[in-house]
Amino acid sequence: MHQTGPMDPSRPLHPDSLLLHADDALHDGTSLTPSIPWSATFTAADAGAFARMASEPMHPAYYTRYGNPLHRRVARIVADLEGAATGLVAASGMGAIATVAMGLLAQGDRVVAQRNHYMGTTKLLSELLARFGVHAEFVEQTDVEAFARALERPAALVMLESPTNPDCSLTDLEAVARLAHDAGAKVVVDNTFATPLNQRPLALGADLVVHSATKYLGGHHDLTAGVVVGDEATIERLWATQIVLGATLSPMDAWLLLRGLRTLAVRVRRINDSALAVARALSAHPAMESVSYPGLETHPQHALARRQMSGFGGVMGLRLRADYAATAGFVAGLRLAQHAVSLGGVDSLVVHAAAMWAGSLDDAGMALSGIEPNLVRLSVGLEHPDDLVADLTRGLDAIARPAG
Ligand SMILES: *Cc1c(COP(=O)(O)O)cnc(C)c1O
Repeated sequence: MHQTGPMDPSRPLHPDSLLLHADDALHDGTSLTPSIPWSATFTAADAGAFARMASEPMHPAYYTRYGNPLHRRVARIVADLEGAATGLVAASGMGAIATVAMGLLAQGDRVVAQRNHYMGTTKLLSELLARFGVHAEFVEQTDVEAFARALERPAALVMLESPTNPDCSLTDLEAVARLAHDAGAKVVVDNTFATPLNQRPLALGADLVVHSATKYLGGHHDLTAGVVVGDEATIERLWATQIVLGATLSPMDAWLLLRGLRTLAVRVRRINDSALAVARALSAHPAMESVSYPGLETHPQHALARRQMSGFGGVMGLRLRADYAATAGFVAGLRLAQHAVSLGGVDSLVVHAAAMWAGSLDDAGMALSGIEPNLVRLSVGLEHPDDLVADLTRGLDAIARPAG
């Protein structure tokens, strides 16, 4: 772990402190906050320096598509939080996930993945990579035995994501990682929903962790970014893939991400607390059929959640006692939670799942993913939980007692 100042190096820093100090050694000068290296290319001091810049993998200041000084600082913080040796940033979460897939897979390889993934990941595996001869098998992620059956045949990669979108079902990361390694597969976990504050997949046996930093890590709905962390050799290999795919994080978004990361610990803890309070309050409402949130005792995998997560995040699936139209009306009528896709930021966001996925899933696909007409995804932000509960309750009251 990176050491800051004269502290005892055997005593690791808490995540709160790592968020502020993991990148200390990479400071560029005397200013406390970094200036933005607004440059696509970097000058060399002499011929020898140029030769080193041109040939050293992951050089931080050669050409921005190859790396930018702020990229390194962001990657250092996320790697330390996840307990990884190193990391790589990308232009988006999908940029990071595509880099992992294209970097590690070859024609004829088999991937075992979940029935329920972020939509882009599903499409990458089932459509794009299928065109290049990679075969993906999708299994029910709540069923460890289903992974065991799929891994009776060799696989190159096991792609996992927990909790899932939008319904917050969990994957037993430790059990599946063990099965995957027995089958010779590398394990990649998309840890976007949990954040490294609530779940550390590498400690549970995963090989690589990816994030859409667009969500909690950035946390302010103002940037698009991705991160992948893991061991040195694999990350260097992924860097070599990334520079030809070109999903380069802009220096501005890297700066915003660095700034967002500074407050990740306080945001996530507050969101964990608020979301649990909101989930509890809404569960009791007569217009609510069910609230799917890993922190509730009623969640079918609550015991697993307690085992592998230290907090339960801000996203929950709400099933209303309502049809499609009444559900759409509920979402549109909220005043605090904004009607927008994405999650994990300072603003609470809400989406009508069936409307969001209608363009990309047919009815069977929606049924498989648990997307019913009455399902609403709520991402709790930093508003006071009492105000959120009041707003949501007003909407539920209207369903319980329709006007006229
Ligand atoms: C948003 C998201 C992604 C994709 O990230 P982008 O930054 O939008 O490319 C991947 N996985 C999960 C779980 C997400 O929520």
